[in-house]
Amino acid sequence: MATETMTRGGAWLIEDAPADSVLTRERLNDEQQLIGRTAEEFVDNEVLPTLDRLEQKDWTWARTLVRRAGELGLLATDVPDAYGGIDVDKVSSVIVGEAVGRCASFATTFGAQTGLTITPILCFGTDDQKQRYLPRLVSGDIIGAYALSESGSGSDALGARARAIQQPDGSYVLSGEKMWITNGGFADIFIVFAKIGGEHFSAFIVERGFPGVSTGREEHKLGLLGSSTTPLILQDAKVPAANLLGEIGKGHKIAFNTLNYGRLKLGAMCSGGARLAIEEAVRYASQRKQFGKPIASFGAIRHKLGEMIARQYAVEAMLYRTGGLIDGALAAGHAPAQILAALEEFAIEASILKVSSSETVDYILDENVQIHGGNGFVRDYPAERHYRDARVNRIFEGTNEINRLLIPGILARRAFKGGLPLIPAAKRLMDEIMAPPSMESAGDAPLDAERRAVGAMKKVALMVLGTAMQTYGEKLADEQEVLLAAADIAIDVYASESALLRALRVADARSGQAGTSLHDAAARVFINDAAVRVEASAKTALAAMASGDTLRTLLAALRRLLKVTPINTVELRRQLADAAVERRTYLF
Ligand SMILES: Cc1cc2nc3c(=O)[nH]c(=O)nc-3n(C[C@H](O)[C@H](O)[C@H](O)COP(=O)(O)OP(=O)(O)OC[C@H]3O[C@@H](n4cnc5c(N)ncnc54)[C@H](O)[C@@H]3O)c2cc1C
Repeated sequence: MATETMTRGGAWLIEDAPADSVLTRERLNDEQQLIGRTAEEFVDNEVLPTLDRLEQKDWTWARTLVRRAGELGLLATDVPDAYGGIDVDKVSSVIVGEAVGRCASFATTFGAQTGLTITPILCFGTDDQKQRYLPRLVSGDIIGAYALSESGSGSDALGARARAIQQPDGSYVLSGEKMWITNGGFADIFIVFAKIGGEHFSAFIVERGFPGVSTGREEHKLGLLGSSTTPLILQDAKVPAANLLGEIGKGHKIAFNTLNYGRLKLGAMCSGGARLAIEEAVRYASQRKQFGKPIASFGAIRHKLGEMIARQYAVEAMLYRTGGLIDGALAAGHAPAQILAALEEFAIEASILKVSSSETVDYILDENVQIHGGNGFVRDYPAERHYRDARVNRIFEGTNEINRLLIPGILARRAFKGGLPLIPAAKRLMDEIMAPPSMESAGDAPLDAERRAVGAMKKVALMVLGTAMQTYGEKLADEQEVLLAAADIAIDVYASESALLRALRVADARSGQAGTSLHDAAARVFINDAAVRVEASAKTALAAMASGDTLRTLLAALRRLLKVTPINTVELRRQLADAAVERRTYLF
């Protein structure tokens, strides 16, 4: 049953959401669809055909494309009219991100401009800073970059060595070197993090033209060759007092909140890349013949296509659900404090999206190369470029290890502080665990089995998290392997429930009849396999935490909880693959 806690991040772990409470991709309004179409046409007609110019490091052209995105309003979605924006809902930013994700190099440039530069100025800037920078960032007249990482501090961002010394006139002198800065080669302004007096981690808006500011040579990268990545060098760089961003010593708030939003947007971009890759794979598999038949007719290839579609279906379900949750939290207004509170509330979901979308797109692109065979390995086809371009998604915006650790970490923190009633829910579960309801006993309407499987996975997540909190208490953070297993379970729970709710919502809109559509097929494949993964992760975690009779009891409970009868996923994947081949496109 849903209550008002459903509007809290992580509440899905202890409550069941009704299908009509979630936003799905099928329910975007006209305005959202229009901006999505505008962005997609721009990328397909103006960016992708000129990708070679970007890959040859023609940054003048990159600037032109950013300005063109500005003319179309694509940089403006988060910004109020007062600063040149259109301030629409976050779902519109998600749909633009998805469209831009069709070109990974340009998406990286775009993401550094919108997510990493506009967001911190919008949320933490003074009115003067907003007036000075936002209108020109929104129009694309100036380019932004975000300089947090250093060669010695990437994940450990607060370990930065860059220093700022305050001068008698209130200005600052910055020294240090930032690494891997997206847009470094042509950005006009940089959000730079440095420690004032070697101690107080703070943020600054640094213009390229300030004395002492320069950038290094382009990095030689595996992928994203059409996006600029350079060091930023600060040699006694002079920064006016008016360019301190936010409060002294509060740079971590800026860094982490910016990343929370960045992760949602990266999720959107990965989703867009995955949609395009599935289209490519479907088209190629339909045309390519071996042994006198299209390779799409072979079971091995149908399996791949069906699996790609099912995994992508779940990512999209989470993406739009999360966007809708954030917009729900922002219904009262878009003041900076409200935006920050909403992003922080759904930080768990943003990390889940970051991890699952980046790993799903990598899986899809790897299979896309495989489906292309030798043609997948050569540059005549886009499959190899996509494959190289996507790898970094698991590294930046917080590595997937760091994001995985954040998921149970935040859940446990909220549980210990009482913000999320996880501990009582886990206790109730432990009490009932000796006699859980049989998974087989409830109704047998379409998707009922999946509904029960999702409920069972939630219980397993609670069992693992509850046991971990009880076993390790405040020392839980030291048990990374258990935390990673708990994160994988939480990811599969959120993904499975989101896929289920998406399918149910579509069924409601059709005729109330679930059970036959391609939506159902995708959700069912995903949930069936997620239950298997959840069981494996739970076993790993429980065996690390308990032994002897306690472990035996927990494993017996696990077996009873996850008594999910396997379904015929072979047939369901074939349905998905065949429908995609018939339509020559991704299905949803
Ligand atoms: C193409 C590209 C563009 C980038 N753009 C930007 C940008 O615009 N701005 C910017 O500031 N940075 C940018 N980065 C940097 C990026 O954010 C960092 O590379 C990333 O945060 C990882 O830091 P690192 O490389 O130092 O790896 P490390 O932190 O050294 O991590 C190495 C490995 O150790 C693991 N690890 C580290 N700490 C822990 C821990 N506590 N527990 C468990 N595992 C851990 C990591 O998960 C990883 O697997 C970019 C990087 C690339 C490649």
